[in-house]
Amino acid sequence: MTRDATARKNGEQERISGPDDRRSGLPCTGDRIAELSAAHGTPLWVYDAGRIRSHIESLRRFDVIRYMQKACSNIHILRLMRSEGVHVTVVSAGELDRALTAGYRVDGPDRPIVLTADLLDRPTLRTVVELGVPVNAGSPHMLSQIGRLAPGHPVWIRINPGFGHGPGRRTSAGGAQSKHGIWHEQLAENLALIDRYDLDLIGLHMHVGSSADHGHLAKVCDAMVKLVLAHQRPIHAISAGGGLPVPYQPGDPVADVDHCFRLWDTARREIAAAIGRPVRLEIEPGRYLVASSGALITEVRAHKPVGGNHFVLVDAGFNDLVRPAMYGSTHRVSAFGPDGLPRTGFARETVLAGALCESGDVFTQDPAHEVRPVSLPATDIGDLVVFHDAGAYGASMSSTYNSRPLAPEVLIDRGVPRLIRRRQTIEDLLALEM
Ligand SMILES: *Cc1c(COP(=O)(O)O)cnc(C)c1O
Repeated sequence: MTRDATARKNGEQERISGPDDRRSGLPCTGDRIAELSAAHGTPLWVYDAGRIRSHIESLRRFDVIRYMQKACSNIHILRLMRSEGVHVTVVSAGELDRALTAGYRVDGPDRPIVLTADLLDRPTLRTVVELGVPVNAGSPHMLSQIGRLAPGHPVWIRINPGFGHGPGRRTSAGGAQSKHGIWHEQLAENLALIDRYDLDLIGLHMHVGSSADHGHLAKVCDAMVKLVLAHQRPIHAISAGGGLPVPYQPGDPVADVDHCFRLWDTARREIAAAIGRPVRLEIEPGRYLVASSGALITEVRAHKPVGGNHFVLVDAGFNDLVRPAMYGSTHRVSAFGPDGLPRTGFARETVLAGALCESGDVFTQDPAHEVRPVSLPATDIGDLVVFHDAGAYGASMSSTYNSRPLAPEVLIDRGVPRLIRRRQTIEDLLALEM
């Protein structure tokens, strides 16, 4: 099937099961974009709370929606998740602090917080043991280190089923080249560690990377059922991990939540029947919940011809949005005048690049890092270029490279914008070195 045909097919199913992700949609109108950038400066992150909520709603059939915080970890986004009854996965002591600051409790039905990792650094080990945070273990040493300090501690096991999925090694999270999870053939040894330290096994978890491919998903579910049947442990839960796709480009597949639920629900029923107890079904999305809710607003500061290429330079860099430079990801872009009117003039092939002193600082490049021009209406200095679908792995992956302060974040809820992170100052940056 062609890409378009797949998209059409998924699109039809998707209309039934979730928000319409095929319409690009910015978090707000051009007027609002102009107003917010005048008030807070650029670059600026903007999120739409309503869009996050509609994505949460589309997943309600799962027993537990556990938000993968690394996708966008602002504590106000976490508060929104918590107020919607969404649980959270953290991957570090810092993210654990964020969850606690947002009001998440360690105790409670279905354990609101889980920490997932492949190793525990010493401070994190101390903290999870002290607070009793359930740990999803990706290596045997996590089990033995926790076991020695805290027999009885609640744990999950994250399994690498021996295969992965994703556009490349950097985004696939399974198979022999992946650092994630406990190799499926090593499960017996790891269960023996659980017995030895009397750890409390909550469940098994598999996350093998983003996938819109149903054949692949069926394979993952199958691997989960086979492992549970082979080892017959009285687990309470299974987790499907994350990886629900987001259509960054027209024609990209959209998530088929119905199909995903049906496959995992069938696996859950088989497992529950085999071990003779109810089994909770968890899903752990990051990108799906927040990507399309967010945008990065930038200002055009320069343009120039370079050989045959037309370069437009904006005041953000890969320190703000790293996905294009790191993965060759493409974000749709829109251009507005400083007054918020959409630019509709003659479109030309444009290379969009950033402000960093670094040749890789190009927003329109392919996975092999070659420039890939996009069609953009002619822009003037002072126009606003907005990157769509930047809510996931955007602000949370930002750095301060080139001593560029972190950009502010605004959350629009029921039409009301609220600054949820101020712009970092140079003084904030230098304070660590004084
Ligand atoms: C990153 C990650 C997720 C979330 O992946 P998305 O593609 O953002 O949904 C879920 N689970 C684990 C273990 C992860 O590492």
